[in-house]
Amino acid sequence: MMTDHVDLLVLNASQLVTAAAGPPGPLRGEDLRRPGIVRNGAVAVAGDRIVAVGASDELRARFTAAREIDAHGCVVLPGFVDPHTHLVFGRTREDEFELRCLGRTYEEIAAAGGGIRASSRRFRTTPRGEIVAQARATRRRALVHGTTTIEVKSGYGLDTAGELTALEIAGEIDDRGDVVRTFLGAHEVPDEWRDDRAGYVRLVCEEMIPAVAERGLATFCDVFCEEHVFTQGETRTIAAAARAHGLRMKLHADELAGTGGAELAVELGAVSADHLMRISDEGIAALAGSDTIAVLLPGTSFFLGMRAFAPGRRMVDAGCAVALATDCNPGSSMTENPQTILTVACIGLGLRPIEALAAMTRNAAYAVGLGDEVGRLAPGLRADIVVSDVPDVRVLPYHHGVNHASVVVHHGVIVD
Ligand SMILES: [Zn+2]
Repeated sequence: MMTDHVDLLVLNASQLVTAAAGPPGPLRGEDLRRPGIVRNGAVAVAGDRIVAVGASDELRARFTAAREIDAHGCVVLPGFVDPHTHLVFGRTREDEFELRCLGRTYEEIAAAGGGIRASSRRFRTTPRGEIVAQARATRRRALVHGTTTIEVKSGYGLDTAGELTALEIAGEIDDRGDVVRTFLGAHEVPDEWRDDRAGYVRLVCEEMIPAVAERGLATFCDVFCEEHVFTQGETRTIAAAARAHGLRMKLHADELAGTGGAELAVELGAVSADHLMRISDEGIAALAGSDTIAVLLPGTSFFLGMRAFAPGRRMVDAGCAVALATDCNPGSSMTENPQTILTVACIGLGLRPIEALAAMTRNAAYAVGLGDEVGRLAPGLRADIVVSDVPDVRVLPYHHGVNHASVVVHHGVIVD
Protein backbone atom coordinates (compact mmCIF):
# COMPACT_ATOMS: atom_id res chain seq x y z
CA MET A 1 0.00 0.00 0.00
CA MET A 2 1.25 3.50 -0.90
CA THR A 3 1.90 5.85 1.99
CA ASP A 4 1.91 9.62 1.81
CA HIS A 5 4.68 11.59 3.42
CA VAL A 6 3.68 14.34 5.87
CA ASP A 7 5.60 16.67 8.16
CA LEU A 8 4.09 15.65 11.47
CA LEU A 9 2.04 12.81 12.92
CA VAL A 10 0.52 13.06 16.40
CA LEU A 11 -0.33 9.48 17.41
CA ASN A 12 -1.91 7.38 20.18
CA ALA A 13 -3.93 10.11 21.92
CA SER A 14 -6.05 8.52 24.63
CA GLN A 15 -8.73 11.06 23.65
CA LEU A 16 -8.52 13.18 20.54
CA VAL A 17 -11.11 15.97 20.75
CA THR A 18 -11.86 17.00 17.16
CA ALA A 19 -14.56 19.57 18.01
CA ALA A 20 -15.62 18.82 14.43
CA ALA A 21 -18.79 16.74 15.01
CA GLY A 22 -22.39 17.88 14.72
CA PRO A 23 -24.00 20.37 12.39
CA PRO A 24 -21.95 23.13 10.72
CA GLY A 25 -21.36 26.37 12.61
CA PRO A 26 -20.96 26.87 16.34
CA LEU A 27 -22.25 24.10 18.61
CA ARG A 28 -25.48 24.73 20.52
CA GLY A 29 -27.56 22.90 23.11
CA GLU A 30 -26.90 19.17 23.39
CA ASP A 31 -24.43 19.25 20.48
CA LEU A 32 -22.00 21.21 22.68
CA ARG A 33 -21.41 18.14 24.83
CA ARG A 34 -20.75 15.93 21.78
CA PRO A 35 -18.01 17.77 19.87
CA GLY A 36 -16.40 14.54 18.66
CA ILE A 37 -13.84 12.40 20.52
CA VAL A 38 -11.66 9.74 18.84
CA ARG A 39 -10.09 7.19 21.17
CA ASN A 40 -6.50 6.26 20.35
CA GLY A 41 -6.66 9.14 17.89
CA ALA A 42 -4.15 10.72 15.54
CA VAL A 43 -3.63 13.86 13.43
CA ALA A 44 -1.48 14.25 10.30
CA VAL A 45 -0.02 17.66 9.41
CA ALA A 46 1.59 18.92 6.20
CA GLY A 47 2.94 22.47 6.23
CA ASP A 48 0.56 24.57 8.29
CA ARG A 49 -2.50 22.44 7.51
CA ILE A 50 -4.18 19.39 9.00
CA VAL A 51 -4.43 16.71 6.30
CA ALA A 52 -6.10 13.87 8.20
CA VAL A 53 -7.71 13.05 11.56
CA GLY A 54 -8.66 9.55 12.70
CA ALA A 55 -7.65 6.37 14.48
CA SER A 56 -3.91 5.93 15.10
CA ASP A 57 -3.77 2.54 13.31
CA GLU A 58 -5.38 3.98 10.22
CA LEU A 59 -3.19 7.11 10.01
CA ARG A 60 -0.03 5.12 10.77
CA ALA A 61 -0.87 2.90 7.78
CA ARG A 62 -1.57 5.84 5.48
CA PHE A 63 1.33 8.17 6.33
CA THR A 64 5.03 8.35 7.00
CA ALA A 65 6.17 11.48 8.79
CA ALA A 66 9.31 13.55 9.22
CA ARG A 67 8.40 13.90 12.87
CA GLU A 68 6.15 11.96 15.24
CA ILE A 69 4.70 12.89 18.61
CA ASP A 70 3.59 10.03 20.82
CA ALA A 71 0.54 11.32 22.69
CA HIS A 72 0.01 8.11 24.67
CA GLY A 73 -1.83 8.94 27.91
CA CYS A 74 -2.63 12.43 26.63
CA VAL A 75 -5.66 14.38 25.45
CA VAL A 76 -5.11 16.06 22.08
CA LEU A 77 -7.29 19.03 21.22
CA PRO A 78 -7.53 22.00 18.86
CA GLY A 79 -5.45 25.02 19.88
CA PHE A 80 -7.45 27.30 22.12
CA VAL A 81 -8.99 30.42 20.61
CA ASP A 82 -9.19 33.33 23.05
CA PRO A 83 -11.83 35.66 21.57
CA HIS A 84 -11.67 38.53 24.09
CA THR A 85 -8.50 40.12 25.51
CA HIS A 86 -7.14 43.56 26.26
CA LEU A 87 -3.55 42.42 26.25
CA VAL A 88 -1.84 45.58 24.98
CA PHE A 89 -1.84 47.50 28.27
CA GLY A 90 1.75 48.30 29.19
CA ARG A 91 1.50 48.49 32.96
CA THR A 92 -0.38 46.48 35.56
CA ARG A 93 -2.77 47.51 38.41
CA GLU A 94 -1.72 45.42 41.43
CA ASP A 95 -2.33 48.54 43.55
CA GLU A 96 -6.08 48.28 42.82
CA PHE A 97 -5.97 44.52 43.36
CA GLU A 98 -4.72 45.09 46.91
CA LEU A 99 -7.50 47.62 47.55
CA ARG A 100 -10.05 45.07 46.33
CA CYS A 101 -8.56 42.43 48.64
CA LEU A 102 -9.35 44.82 51.50
CA GLY A 103 -12.98 45.22 50.41
CA ARG A 104 -13.11 48.12 47.94
CA THR A 105 -15.22 47.29 44.89
CA TYR A 106 -14.16 47.67 41.27
CA GLU A 107 -16.91 50.27 40.77
CA GLU A 108 -15.71 52.36 43.75
CA ILE A 109 -12.16 52.29 42.44
CA ALA A 110 -13.30 53.23 38.93
CA ALA A 111 -15.49 56.09 40.24
CA ALA A 112 -12.44 57.48 42.08
CA GLY A 113 -10.49 57.66 38.82
CA GLY A 114 -9.04 54.14 38.81
CA GLY A 115 -10.00 51.28 36.55
CA ILE A 116 -9.78 51.74 32.78
CA ARG A 117 -8.95 55.43 33.14
CA ALA A 118 -5.97 54.55 35.37
CA SER A 119 -4.76 52.13 32.71
CA SER A 120 -5.24 54.81 30.08
CA ARG A 121 -3.09 57.30 32.01
CA ARG A 122 -0.40 54.63 32.45
CA PHE A 123 -0.62 53.59 28.80
CA ARG A 124 -0.12 57.15 27.59
CA THR A 125 3.02 57.65 29.71
CA THR A 126 4.64 54.25 29.06
CA PRO A 127 7.36 54.18 26.37
CA ARG A 128 6.23 52.33 23.24
CA GLY A 129 9.06 49.80 23.50
CA GLU A 130 7.95 48.83 26.99
CA ILE A 131 4.36 48.27 25.82
CA VAL A 132 5.55 46.13 22.90
CA ALA A 133 7.68 44.02 25.27
CA GLN A 134 4.74 43.56 27.66
CA ALA A 135 2.34 42.62 24.87
CA ARG A 136 4.80 40.20 23.31
CA ALA A 137 5.49 38.49 26.65
CA THR A 138 1.77 38.18 27.41
CA ARG A 139 1.07 36.74 23.95
CA ARG A 140 3.94 34.28 24.42
CA ARG A 141 2.59 33.08 27.77
CA ALA A 142 -0.86 32.59 26.23
CA LEU A 143 0.72 30.50 23.48
CA VAL A 144 2.62 28.19 25.83
CA HIS A 145 -0.66 27.61 27.66
CA GLY A 146 -2.24 26.53 24.37
CA THR A 147 -3.82 29.70 22.92
CA THR A 148 -2.99 29.59 19.21
CA THR A 149 -5.42 32.32 18.04
CA ILE A 150 -6.13 35.42 20.09
CA GLU A 151 -8.29 38.50 19.80
CA VAL A 152 -6.70 41.75 21.00
CA LYS A 153 -8.56 45.01 21.66
CA SER A 154 -7.29 48.55 21.85
CA GLY A 155 -8.98 50.75 24.45
CA TYR A 156 -6.33 52.22 26.75
CA GLY A 157 -5.13 54.93 24.39
CA LEU A 158 -8.53 56.65 24.27
CA ASP A 159 -7.20 59.25 21.88
CA THR A 160 -6.59 58.79 18.18
CA ALA A 161 -2.81 58.41 18.38
CA GLY A 162 -2.97 56.04 21.35
CA GLU A 163 -5.66 53.83 19.81
CA LEU A 164 -3.72 53.53 16.56
CA THR A 165 -0.55 52.70 18.52
CA ALA A 166 -2.30 49.92 20.45
CA LEU A 167 -3.61 48.33 17.25
CA GLU A 168 -0.22 48.65 15.55
CA ILE A 169 1.42 46.91 18.50
CA ALA A 170 -1.19 44.15 18.32
CA GLY A 171 -0.11 43.72 14.70
CA GLU A 172 3.59 43.69 15.62
CA ILE A 173 3.20 40.80 18.07
CA ASP A 174 1.39 38.74 15.43
CA ASP A 175 4.02 36.54 13.80
CA ARG A 176 1.73 34.12 12.00
CA GLY A 177 -1.57 35.85 11.32
CA ASP A 178 -3.10 34.62 14.56
CA VAL A 179 -3.96 37.94 16.23
CA VAL A 180 -7.45 39.29 15.50
CA ARG A 181 -7.66 43.01 16.14
CA THR A 182 -10.61 44.94 17.57
CA PHE A 183 -10.89 48.71 17.88
CA LEU A 184 -12.30 49.66 21.30
CA GLY A 185 -11.98 53.42 21.44
CA ALA A 186 -15.36 53.34 23.20
CA HIS A 187 -13.96 51.49 26.23
CA GLU A 188 -14.38 54.45 28.59
CA VAL A 189 -14.70 58.24 28.41
CA PRO A 190 -11.17 59.51 29.15
CA ASP A 191 -10.37 62.18 31.76
CA GLU A 192 -10.20 65.09 29.33
CA TRP A 193 -13.66 64.37 27.85
CA ARG A 194 -15.59 63.74 31.11
CA ASP A 195 -17.53 66.99 30.64
CA ASP A 196 -18.23 66.41 26.96
CA ARG A 197 -19.31 62.82 26.34
CA ALA A 198 -20.94 63.70 23.04
CA GLY A 199 -17.67 65.24 21.92
CA TYR A 200 -15.81 62.04 22.68
CA VAL A 201 -18.37 59.90 20.80
CA ARG A 202 -17.92 62.24 17.81
CA LEU A 203 -14.16 61.80 18.05
CA VAL A 204 -14.59 58.00 18.00
CA CYS A 205 -16.95 58.13 15.02
CA GLU A 206 -15.44 60.90 12.93
CA GLU A 207 -11.72 60.56 13.56
CA MET A 208 -10.76 57.26 15.18
CA ILE A 209 -12.92 54.81 13.18
CA PRO A 210 -11.98 56.31 9.78
CA ALA A 211 -8.28 56.30 10.77
CA VAL A 212 -8.41 52.67 11.94
CA ALA A 213 -10.28 51.54 8.83
CA GLU A 214 -8.08 53.48 6.42
CA ARG A 215 -4.93 51.83 7.85
CA GLY A 216 -6.56 48.37 7.96
CA LEU A 217 -5.75 48.07 11.67
CA ALA A 218 -8.84 46.17 12.87
CA THR A 219 -11.46 43.65 11.81
CA PHE A 220 -13.93 44.50 14.55
CA CYS A 221 -15.26 47.50 16.45
CA ASP A 222 -16.34 47.00 20.07
CA VAL A 223 -18.24 49.27 22.50
CA PHE A 224 -18.50 49.03 26.30
CA CYS A 225 -22.28 49.38 26.36
CA GLU A 226 -23.12 49.74 30.04
CA GLU A 227 -24.67 52.11 32.57
CA HIS A 228 -22.11 54.86 33.34
CA VAL A 229 -20.05 53.95 30.26
CA PHE A 230 -21.71 54.15 26.81
CA THR A 231 -25.50 54.23 26.44
CA GLN A 232 -27.53 52.27 23.92
CA GLY A 233 -27.96 55.42 21.87
CA GLU A 234 -24.22 56.15 21.82
CA THR A 235 -23.56 52.51 20.96
CA ARG A 236 -25.92 52.71 17.98
CA THR A 237 -24.17 55.85 16.75
CA ILE A 238 -20.74 54.23 17.00
CA ALA A 239 -22.00 51.00 15.36
CA ALA A 240 -23.34 52.99 12.41
CA ALA A 241 -19.94 54.64 11.90
CA ALA A 242 -18.19 51.26 12.19
CA ARG A 243 -20.51 49.70 9.63
CA ALA A 244 -19.96 52.58 7.24
CA HIS A 245 -16.22 51.89 7.42
CA GLY A 246 -16.45 48.11 7.00
CA LEU A 247 -15.80 47.10 10.61
CA ARG A 248 -17.90 44.28 12.09
CA MET A 249 -19.36 44.79 15.58
CA LYS A 250 -18.77 43.22 18.96
CA LEU A 251 -20.31 44.50 22.20
CA HIS A 252 -19.39 44.47 25.89
CA ALA A 253 -22.97 43.84 27.03
CA ASP A 254 -24.92 43.34 30.25
CA GLU A 255 -21.80 43.08 32.40
CA LEU A 256 -22.53 45.08 35.53
CA ALA A 257 -26.20 45.94 34.99
CA GLY A 258 -28.82 44.39 32.71
CA THR A 259 -29.46 47.11 30.14
CA GLY A 260 -30.62 45.09 27.14
CA GLY A 261 -27.12 44.86 25.71
CA ALA A 262 -27.61 41.33 24.38
CA GLU A 263 -30.75 42.36 22.50
CA LEU A 264 -28.92 45.37 21.07
CA ALA A 265 -26.03 43.15 19.91
CA VAL A 266 -28.51 40.96 18.03
CA GLU A 267 -30.26 44.00 16.56
CA LEU A 268 -26.92 45.35 15.34
CA GLY A 269 -25.94 41.99 13.84
CA ALA A 270 -22.86 41.86 16.09
CA VAL A 271 -20.55 38.87 15.72
CA SER A 272 -20.49 38.52 19.49
CA ALA A 273 -22.01 39.86 22.71
CA ASP A 274 -19.51 39.55 25.54
CA HIS A 275 -19.73 39.29 29.38
CA LEU A 276 -23.54 38.93 29.83
CA MET A 277 -23.38 38.47 33.59
CA ARG A 278 -26.71 40.32 33.94
CA ILE A 279 -28.40 39.11 30.74
CA SER A 280 -32.21 38.97 30.92
CA ASP A 281 -34.46 36.10 29.80
CA GLU A 282 -35.35 38.21 26.76
CA GLY A 283 -31.65 38.63 26.03
CA ILE A 284 -31.09 34.88 26.22
CA ALA A 285 -33.99 34.28 23.84
CA ALA A 286 -32.68 36.91 21.43
CA LEU A 287 -29.18 35.40 21.35
CA ALA A 288 -30.53 31.85 20.99
CA GLY A 289 -32.44 32.92 17.89
CA SER A 290 -29.48 34.69 16.30
CA ASP A 291 -25.99 34.12 14.88
CA THR A 292 -24.44 36.37 17.55
CA ILE A 293 -22.04 34.36 19.72
CA ALA A 294 -22.33 34.72 23.51
CA VAL A 295 -18.77 35.16 24.75
CA LEU A 296 -18.67 34.47 28.49
CA LEU A 297 -15.79 35.67 30.68
CA PRO A 298 -16.13 33.82 33.99
CA GLY A 299 -12.55 34.69 34.96
CA THR A 300 -13.74 38.26 35.42
CA SER A 301 -16.52 37.33 37.88
CA PHE A 302 -13.97 35.23 39.75
CA PHE A 303 -11.25 37.89 39.79
CA LEU A 304 -13.63 40.65 40.89
CA GLY A 305 -14.86 38.44 43.73
CA MET A 306 -18.44 38.57 42.47
CA ARG A 307 -21.05 36.05 43.48
CA ALA A 308 -22.76 36.50 40.13
CA PHE A 309 -21.70 34.62 37.03
CA ALA A 310 -23.40 34.72 33.66
CA PRO A 311 -26.19 32.10 33.49
CA GLY A 312 -24.03 29.92 31.24
CA ARG A 313 -25.87 26.66 31.84
CA ARG A 314 -29.23 28.21 31.00
CA MET A 315 -27.78 29.90 27.95
CA VAL A 316 -26.37 26.65 26.56
CA ASP A 317 -29.63 24.82 27.24
CA ALA A 318 -31.62 27.64 25.61
CA GLY A 319 -29.60 27.24 22.41
CA CYS A 320 -27.22 30.20 22.59
CA ALA A 321 -23.86 29.65 20.87
CA VAL A 322 -21.64 30.02 23.95
CA ALA A 323 -17.90 30.70 23.74
CA LEU A 324 -15.35 31.39 26.49
CA ALA A 325 -12.52 33.90 26.77
CA THR A 326 -9.96 35.05 29.34
CA ASP A 327 -10.77 38.80 29.16
CA CYS A 328 -7.02 39.14 29.87
CA ASN A 329 -6.59 42.70 31.21
CA PRO A 330 -4.77 44.38 34.11
CA GLY A 331 -7.91 45.33 36.06
CA SER A 332 -10.56 42.64 36.08
CA SER A 333 -8.87 39.46 34.78
CA MET A 334 -5.10 39.31 34.97
CA THR A 335 -4.52 35.98 33.27
CA GLU A 336 -3.72 34.82 29.75
CA ASN A 337 -4.19 31.14 30.66
CA PRO A 338 -7.18 29.55 28.87
CA GLN A 339 -7.01 26.47 31.09
CA THR A 340 -7.84 28.60 34.14
CA ILE A 341 -10.96 29.74 32.33
CA LEU A 342 -12.08 26.14 31.70
CA THR A 343 -11.97 25.50 35.46
CA VAL A 344 -13.88 28.67 36.35
CA ALA A 345 -16.42 28.00 33.57
CA CYS A 346 -17.18 24.57 34.99
CA ILE A 347 -17.55 25.83 38.55
CA GLY A 348 -19.09 29.27 37.91
CA LEU A 349 -21.18 28.69 34.78
CA GLY A 350 -22.13 25.07 35.35
CA LEU A 351 -20.63 23.79 32.10
CA ARG A 352 -19.38 20.25 31.68
CA PRO A 353 -15.62 20.03 31.05
CA ILE A 354 -16.20 18.89 27.46
CA GLU A 355 -18.64 21.77 26.88
CA ALA A 356 -16.14 24.30 28.20
CA LEU A 357 -13.50 22.86 25.89
CA ALA A 358 -15.74 23.07 22.81
CA ALA A 359 -16.71 26.62 23.82
CA MET A 360 -13.07 27.72 23.95
CA THR A 361 -12.08 26.12 20.65
CA ARG A 362 -14.76 25.75 17.97
CA ASN A 363 -17.30 28.29 19.26
CA ALA A 364 -14.58 30.80 20.15
CA ALA A 365 -13.29 30.59 16.57
CA TYR A 366 -16.74 31.67 15.31
CA ALA A 367 -16.69 34.54 17.81
CA VAL A 368 -13.71 36.05 15.94
CA GLY A 369 -15.01 35.19 12.47
CA LEU A 370 -12.51 32.36 11.96
CA GLY A 371 -14.78 29.33 12.31
CA ASP A 372 -13.74 28.03 8.90
CA GLU A 373 -10.02 28.31 9.67
CA VAL A 374 -9.33 27.30 13.30
CA GLY A 375 -11.00 25.80 16.38
CA ARG A 376 -11.43 22.23 15.09
CA LEU A 377 -9.19 19.32 14.18
CA ALA A 378 -10.33 18.63 10.63
CA PRO A 379 -8.65 18.29 7.22
CA GLY A 380 -7.89 21.65 5.61
CA LEU A 381 -7.90 23.64 8.83
CA ARG A 382 -4.84 25.33 10.30
CA ALA A 383 -2.58 22.93 12.19
CA ASP A 384 -3.05 24.42 15.66
CA ILE A 385 -2.92 21.51 18.11
CA VAL A 386 -2.45 21.11 21.85
CA VAL A 387 -1.14 17.90 23.41
CA SER A 388 -2.28 17.96 27.02
CA ASP A 389 -0.64 15.74 29.63
CA VAL A 390 -3.94 14.43 31.05
CA PRO A 391 -5.58 11.10 30.16
CA ASP A 392 -9.16 12.37 30.15
CA VAL A 393 -10.79 15.66 29.13
CA ARG A 394 -12.30 16.09 32.59
CA VAL A 395 -8.87 16.24 34.22
CA LEU A 396 -7.99 19.41 32.31
CA PRO A 397 -10.26 21.76 34.33
CA TYR A 398 -10.24 19.52 37.40
CA HIS A 399 -6.50 19.56 38.05
CA HIS A 400 -6.22 23.32 37.97
CA GLY A 401 -3.55 25.96 38.37
CA VAL A 402 -0.86 24.16 36.37
CA ASN A 403 -0.06 24.19 32.67
CA HIS A 404 -1.18 20.93 31.05
CA ALA A 405 -0.10 21.93 27.53
CA SER A 406 2.96 19.72 27.08
CA VAL A 407 3.22 20.32 23.32
CA VAL A 408 1.72 23.20 21.35
CA VAL A 409 1.69 23.02 17.56
CA HIS A 410 1.15 26.47 16.02
CA HIS A 411 0.64 26.70 12.26
CA GLY A 412 2.25 23.29 11.97
CA VAL A 413 5.32 24.38 13.95
CA ILE A 414 6.09 22.93 17.37
CA VAL A 415 6.43 25.78 19.89
CA ASP A 416 9.69 25.61 21.89
ZN1 LIG B 1 -13.34 43.34 27.85
